[in-house]
Amino acid sequence: MSHSGWKADPQDVLRAGPGFDLSAFDRASTPGWSGGKDAAEEHLSEQGERMSELQERLFAHGRADGTRSVLLVLQGMDTAGKGGIVRHVLGMVDPQGVAVRSFGVPTPEERAHHYLWRIRNALPRPGYIGVFDRSHYEDVLVVRVDDLVPRGQWEPRYDEINAFEAEVATSGTVIVKAMLMVSADEQAARLRERLERPDKNWKYSPNDVDVREKWWAYQEAYQAVLDRTSTDVAPWYVIPADRKWYAWLAVSELLTTALESLDLSWPPADFDVATELARLAASDPGAARP
Ligand code: ADP
Repeated sequence: MSHSGWKADPQDVLRAGPGFDLSAFDRASTPGWSGGKDAAEEHLSEQGERMSELQERLFAHGRADGTRSVLLVLQGMDTAGKGGIVRHVLGMVDPQGVAVRSFGVPTPEERAHHYLWRIRNALPRPGYIGVFDRSHYEDVLVVRVDDLVPRGQWEPRYDEINAFEAEVATSGTVIVKAMLMVSADEQAARLRERLERPDKNWKYSPNDVDVREKWWAYQEAYQAVLDRTSTDVAPWYVIPADRKWYAWLAVSELLTTALESLDLSWPPADFDVATELARLAASDPGAARP
């Protein structure tokens, strides 16, 4: 928490603890932030500089054979703004240190493996910020809502996911799970805009309305995710997403906190600086080619 606009730590107010009730969650609210939109935008750009420096340290750490990384998991209904987070929050740091991976309908090859296979393969290497646009949680969301496998198969996945994430965390990855929650009305407005604006048509799929028809089944499935997979090692943060500026601000704050928690310093030189300075000084190639 690095700004007076936050009157409470977003880590505390957004975390889904025991008894969290998604149906009572106000998706247009701005928990913990008292500064309004203009102040949020200003704070976001300051935050960008802070995040950039921390990300560069992480990258340097990776180059120096470090083991740490950060993984941002983004889940949410269509139009909740997952892409906007990638563009507006991750877009503030050096793209070479960010690895974004989106998960769609599994390919035949992916389907031939355990559902966590493609996830393991996409985990961030040391030094990187990995971003999952959708994730292994689809395997207890769309899969559960659409009965893609029998209950007996998806039911054990919650515990399996917790064990998997614990293992990932133990290997040095800080996991930040952000569930972007848009209201049904705001989703309708965003889908309408995608239909009405030719420059947004490409974001629309007729399937979006089919999924919207299953809104309540999805809310129930998301609630189950929160009830069963918001663990100490990888808690869920539920982000109200009707105001995009708030969602960007909140995720940038969570990500910054995660990067800070790594507590990385710049890796020391693995050469003798004085010797190298002397070599550099003596290395003048001169103006003329021999
Ligand atoms: P987006 O809608 O995020 O822009 P896509 O159009 O590629 O991206 O949609 C991804 C689709 O893939 C979603 O409908 C999602 O539910 C589906 N999907 C993702 N993971 C799985 C999975 N494990 N099993 C079935 N469907 C999945």
